[in-house]
Amino acid sequence: MYEHDVIVVGAGGAGLRAAIAANEAGADTAIVSKLHPVRSHTGAAEGGINAALREGDDWELHAYDTMKGSDYLGDAPAVETLAQDAPEETINLEHWGMPFSREDDGRVSQRPFGGLSFPRTTYAGAETGHHLLHVMYEQVVKRGIQVYDEWYVMNLATSDEPDPNDRECHGVVAYDVQSGQIEGFKANQGVVLATGGPGQAFDHTTNAVSCTGDGHAMAYRAGAPLEDMEFIQFHPTSLPSTGVLISEGVRGEGGILYNAEGERFMFEYGYAKNDGELASRDVVARAELTEVGEGRGVNDEYVHLDMRHLGEERILDRLENILHLAEDFEGVDGLVEPMPVKPGQHYAMGGIDVDENGQTCIDGLYAAGECACVSVHGGNRLGGNALPELIVFGKRAGRHAAGEDLGEPEIETGYGDDVEDETDADLPVQPGAAGVGSSGDVAADGGVATGVGSLERAVERERERVDRLMDKDSGVQHAEIRSKLQNAMTDYVNVFRTEDGVKKALSIIRECREEYQDVYVDDPSRTFNTDLQQTYETRNLIDVAETIALGALVRNEFRGAHWRQENQIRDDENWLKHTLISWDGGDPSIFYRPVILEGEDKTYEPKERSY
Ligand SMILES: Cc1cc2nc3c(=O)[nH]c(=O)nc-3n(C[C@H](O)[C@H](O)[C@H](O)COP(=O)(O)OP(=O)(O)OC[C@H]3O[C@@H](n4cnc5c(N)ncnc54)[C@H](O)[C@@H]3O)c2cc1C
Repeated sequence: MYEHDVIVVGAGGAGLRAAIAANEAGADTAIVSKLHPVRSHTGAAEGGINAALREGDDWELHAYDTMKGSDYLGDAPAVETLAQDAPEETINLEHWGMPFSREDDGRVSQRPFGGLSFPRTTYAGAETGHHLLHVMYEQVVKRGIQVYDEWYVMNLATSDEPDPNDRECHGVVAYDVQSGQIEGFKANQGVVLATGGPGQAFDHTTNAVSCTGDGHAMAYRAGAPLEDMEFIQFHPTSLPSTGVLISEGVRGEGGILYNAEGERFMFEYGYAKNDGELASRDVVARAELTEVGEGRGVNDEYVHLDMRHLGEERILDRLENILHLAEDFEGVDGLVEPMPVKPGQHYAMGGIDVDENGQTCIDGLYAAGECACVSVHGGNRLGGNALPELIVFGKRAGRHAAGEDLGEPEIETGYGDDVEDETDADLPVQPGAAGVGSSGDVAADGGVATGVGSLERAVERERERVDRLMDKDSGVQHAEIRSKLQNAMTDYVNVFRTEDGVKKALSIIRECREEYQDVYVDDPSRTFNTDLQQTYETRNLIDVAETIALGALVRNEFRGAHWRQENQIRDDENWLKHTLISWDGGDPSIFYRPVILEGEDKTYEPKERSY
């Protein structure tokens, strides 16, 4: 058993920032991560960090753009905190050695990004996330923060009161990938989940194989609701064959989108008459798929992104990485030909329900970064707003977990007074673990139960679960289930959603859950057993995918990235509210919480969103 004051799960941008903050607040802090810190997915971030740094810009403008971008589903206290704190946190990165790109006069460069009214995206070439990770990891090493890397966190240990609002988190159970050892990590003050996104729930994604929604699923099963999971961002410029991202920085620098007829369709067909290619991501993704659907796509699949006119010097200076990605992953030379691009799953706006201090409804359990929903991004995230979220809310979560008083949060979590009644949605299948037989892994390993009582008991349960998975000689392999799940999500819960399609996805997810009862681990080794780890991850993906599809089914309106064929309008009268889904002992329930539009000095009145 290991013991620390604060345990941070995950070593991406959010986890590193949380750990540094907890350490600075005086807590004995440790990071537990399935990857070495600098291999975390934050390293893939290309385009930059939004922060109002320049004369002519201010945090109010940033907050306004973010609320508008969110399609008025962001909570104003969180959005304003992000916009207010991002400049100081970005300057702090600079002081830690972040090699931001610069103008000739020495000022840090900023470029335009989609949905921004001011060019406020600060960047380090097209490798912003890579530098961010290295700079922060250096700070972690400098402070002597203990890092347990290549330790896979399997579950949380929480107390087992019937009401999740009364539960406490005691620590985590983790598996040492190198030795196969399973151990408890006791957290005397708090556990901060910073486990990143769930992109692997989809087949075509810009996310790494490590983005499996582990934190989402663990918090959900422990009793913390997941919020706004239906809001998935599909980035308009991913490479068709691999999903590898071509940064929005290309359009920010002046890159142009063309259809197969050579038309600049964003303007020609009126998708975004003012901002064209730099409209918000949801707008551009829908426009591209409409072009393809109406027969103007290239090879009936994608459109072209052209940056040749920017010239070799500028491309090499600001977008060199993009040239390598296009060449290596698509065999295209961006200096002499346009790059093929299409929408790919990119980001989860929703996540673990937390307040401005990163706290969930479970005492001592925090979440920050992409796995959390505070909610800053609402229905649609603006490019360049995830990285400031990591550093602003990662820091807050770390400080609060270490015992610092950050004031009363304005955002509610869990099952508060302002929660509407549960909805009785018309579901095609029984979601969750309930109804699944008791012989298999899902039910028998505690998939139904939530709080496990104590850390010792939690450790014991994971050891038994691994023994069960390894002792089995035959059954279904996780990879089969995973690819069925991913295909269903990409086919039916993509940019354009229909009620029938989402119901079909839910039925397939149900089949995946049932097949998972017969899952087995083929690799008998106890060391570096990726088969075992991925079997765990696949189970998490099933739980997370189900919440995405459930949210997509009940939200019968068109807001931000969530489009529904049956109701193609934003329905503020009925839907200015967050969707929350709680595991409820394996029988998920859905409830709602009103969005907070009242900021410090003003109310963000919902307006028509045009670009
Ligand atoms: C290709 C790409 C480019 C992007 N570019 C930008 C950009 O330019 N600007 C911007 O604002 N946003 C960008 N984003 C979004 C942004 O990069 C991510 O949302 C953000 O980096 C996520 O950071 P994180 O710290 O939450 O998670 P991650 O960086 O994904 O880190 C997750 C950590 O959790 C650990 N972990 C996960 N599960 C477990 C487990 N079970 N046990 C132990 N450890 C675990 C992992 O090892 C990892 O260390 C981009 C996203 C992508 C995919």
